[in-house]
Amino acid sequence: MAARVVLATRNAHKVEEVRRILEAAGVDGVELLSLDGFDAPEVVEDGATFVENAVLKARSAVAATGLPALADDSGIAVDALNGMPGVLSARWSGGRGDAANVDLLLAQVADVPDERRGASFVCAVALALPDGTLVTEEGVVAGTLLRERRGTGGFGYDPVFVPLGHEQSTAELSPAEKDRLSHRGLALRALAPRLAELGRAAG
Ligand code: IMP
Repeated sequence: MAARVVLATRNAHKVEEVRRILEAAGVDGVELLSLDGFDAPEVVEDGATFVENAVLKARSAVAATGLPALADDSGIAVDALNGMPGVLSARWSGGRGDAANVDLLLAQVADVPDERRGASFVCAVALALPDGTLVTEEGVVAGTLLRERRGTGGFGYDPVFVPLGHEQSTAELSPAEKDRLSHRGLALRALAPRLAELGRAAG
């Protein structure tokens, strides 16, 4: 029997992405569910850090479902903006969506020269168990901000971010290529042994 683990999101796209990353990491015996179908409250993501927000979401999901819960929180931290948008990445333009977030960010750094356009994608993941155990991990990918969008894949800030050591923006990479280097891939692979343990215990 597989261990049921709830992913603290209602976003089917995110469930697919996490499933794909964990499968590639060799995690067996874990059935990943979304919060759909559970009566779970909306979480106010008011943490000061990605880790704090991931923990808020994981703890709320474990309380609502009684199942082990996995949550992530992510965003982009821009050097020239002292690490902002950071935890405000999804709401940077006041809730007007991804395209408006990217437009605003590009406008804010329009005068920043190429050598100071460093930025990082950051992802924190938290696994909370019904017995109170909590494990967190963080993945960071350093890179630079473009001046214009490039590529049509990915989502959010992908078209304007080029990882260090690469030529292509993260919107020009295939999903598998992005997973291999992404902040979410790094954080989830660091957590994979704990999830595999749950799978073995259930099996
Ligand atoms: P959340 O953790 O799903 O709430 O994402 C926070 C925000 O950060 C998203 O709305 C995206 O704009 C941005 N973000 C997080 N991960 C990525 C990524 O892999 N590529 C591009 N943007 C991202």
